[in-house]
Amino acid sequence: MRIPLIAGNWKMNMNHESGKDLVKKISDKVGGSDPEVVVCCPFPMLLEIGKCLSDSAIMLGAQNMHWENSGAFTGEISADMLLELGVKYVIIGHSERRQIFSETNHMINLKVKKALEKQIVPILCIGELLNEREGKQTERVLTDQLENSLANINTQEATKIVIAYEPVWAIGTGKTATPEQAADTIGFIRGWLKEKYGESSSEKIRILYGGSVKPDNISEIMKSPDVDGALVGGASLIDEDFINIVHFKH
Ligand code: PEP
Repeated sequence: MRIPLIAGNWKMNMNHESGKDLVKKISDKVGGSDPEVVVCCPFPMLLEIGKCLSDSAIMLGAQNMHWENSGAFTGEISADMLLELGVKYVIIGHSERRQIFSETNHMINLKVKKALEKQIVPILCIGELLNEREGKQTERVLTDQLENSLANINTQEATKIVIAYEPVWAIGTGKTATPEQAADTIGFIRGWLKEKYGESSSEKIRILYGGSVKPDNISEIMKSPDVDGALVGGASLIDEDFINIVHFKH
């Protein structure tokens, strides 16, 4: 039985006041039988947002981390630094990191390995560009991303990873993949995991959909048995929208 997960990615938005206000409103409404909920806020807010969440069921997440423990890496943040702040989840390989900051599958692989070693749950993002989908390259691209970002990760480690399938053309664009596209592609990813890690382990790995998830499309997306939740960008900044996504109708 996989526990559903809704993760909010604030990206480079909010400040201490608006962030605290948002998590207070959300944490008042989330708990009990709801999916697991994670809020991934910018680094400078982790301490304060973490304090606001200390009595809530919502977990704290970061949006990135470096793969080394320490050293001359100006501007970077280590897993130990995140642990000190109470971080439980970390987004790794978001398409904005891959595209704007030139992160490669190899770098992403090193980050996933370090997060696992430090017992922070990596949310590994994969997804194809529009021209790749139109050129029927989606499965090839995802296979390449999976093979290389999960290199040298054993079965036991793999069951602790969360994968977020985020078609790049659907992120922040208002264009959502159809529920069929999300279900088919996530089914393909589950199939790849089964080949690599075996049936019972692949069944333990949570796979999220991400890309313009809103209160009015989450229920359809969640209908596929392979879809275990969502990584939510824009709608995670609006308390009512995020709460309604968490409370999606089954
Ligand atoms: C994201 O940030 O990962 C994302 C999916 O953004 P949005 O929901 O705004 O498309």
